[in-house]
Amino acid sequence: MGAAVPALADPGPQPLRIGLVRYLKGVSTIDISCSEDFTVINKREQKTLVTSTYLEPIKVFARPDGIEIKTAKGQLVKTNDVIRICPAKPGGLLTISAPTRSFSQYRGVLEIQRINETTALLIVNEVSLEDYLMGVLPGEMPHTFHPEALKAQAIAARTYSEKGHGRHSASGFDMCDTVHCQVYIGSGGEKPSTTKAVKETQGLVAKYDGKLILAVYSADCGGRTQSGEDAGLMDAKDYLKSVADNDGADKPDYCCTNKSHKWIKIYTPQELGTALNATMKPPLEGLKSIAFCEYDESGRVKRVDIVDGKETRTITGAELRMTCGSTVIRSAKMIVCTVEDGKICFEGKGWGHGVGLCQWGAEGLAREPSKLNAEQILKHYYTGIEIGKLH
Ligand SMILES: [Zn+2]
Ligand SMILES: [Zn+2]
Repeated sequence: MGAAVPALADPGPQPLRIGLVRYLKGVSTIDISCSEDFTVINKREQKTLVTSTYLEPIKVFARPDGIEIKTAKGQLVKTNDVIRICPAKPGGLLTISAPTRSFSQYRGVLEIQRINETTALLIVNEVSLEDYLMGVLPGEMPHTFHPEALKAQAIAARTYSEKGHGRHSASGFDMCDTVHCQVYIGSGGEKPSTTKAVKETQGLVAKYDGKLILAVYSADCGGRTQSGEDAGLMDAKDYLKSVADNDGADKPDYCCTNKSHKWIKIYTPQELGTALNATMKPPLEGLKSIAFCEYDESGRVKRVDIVDGKETRTITGAELRMTCGSTVIRSAKMIVCTVEDGKICFEGKGWGHGVGLCQWGAEGLAREPSKLNAEQILKHYYTGIEIGKLH
């Protein structure tokens, strides 16, 4: 048969393949509908398996011996190939719903396969870079931020995405839809302000020495960003310098309007010992003391000495943070002290790794009194870069 594959909007030179693992991990049944008529084709032969109107959702099941598609009229089609769900018109929006999960909507094409012959489905959204970014921005930055902060975020995310091709190649996609790569909420979460920022910066990326930069970013740098060198990103050390996120130590940080810019976490020695033992091998035999012994130039703790009844162990501040939980110990830019009853207090600033663009700082810089534009904001966080066209 080999029916023609419906024409889609020009996806650009190389569409991105995003693994939808945040809400859809492990599902074995999904419902798919589309705002346009759509077809289901098999990937190998590009043969049409099902055609459906926009009024007729389909169901897709992972079976022990392949994938089964059930049409709205009850027709069953089985295949052991990967299937592609393609809207008949550009801009068609595909909606996925799965039992017990919230539904979500995507631009582009959906590709569905079983994971390693199991009855779990892997759903990949093949989408153009610009369409992808419209679903990333509202997941990564509050849509109420200043337009110039949103544009700076759009350029950083575009640059980061373009370098993200093949990041999860072993799993069959480029990037996942979680904080591990970039939060991607699809077209259902798009907001007018974030979409405007993507459109107004279309094709713009950040380059250093003519090459795309590793445009890492985090929520709140705590008043000074960490250098690429201290973060172990040696390839990016020329433009990921540690920069002060204020006009001087006695002035407010650009990121200080973040409500959780400063944070405190207090543990009893027993609670902290239990938390640390999530990763300590062999486990601590009663926590005696914890000391921060070395800091990097951004004020992030580099070396933590932990003493139990037997020995002293050394971990990094980043490891301490990941062990206790990155939402509890929000950054490694912190001090430790003992408070009443021998309790241990971590007192810190910022949220996230603090390398590259500071999102709350971008918001602060875009507003009075600095009023920087997107390019100026990016040049503050990425030293010596240029903004230019991707192609
Ligand atoms: Zn990822
Ligand atoms: Zn900051």
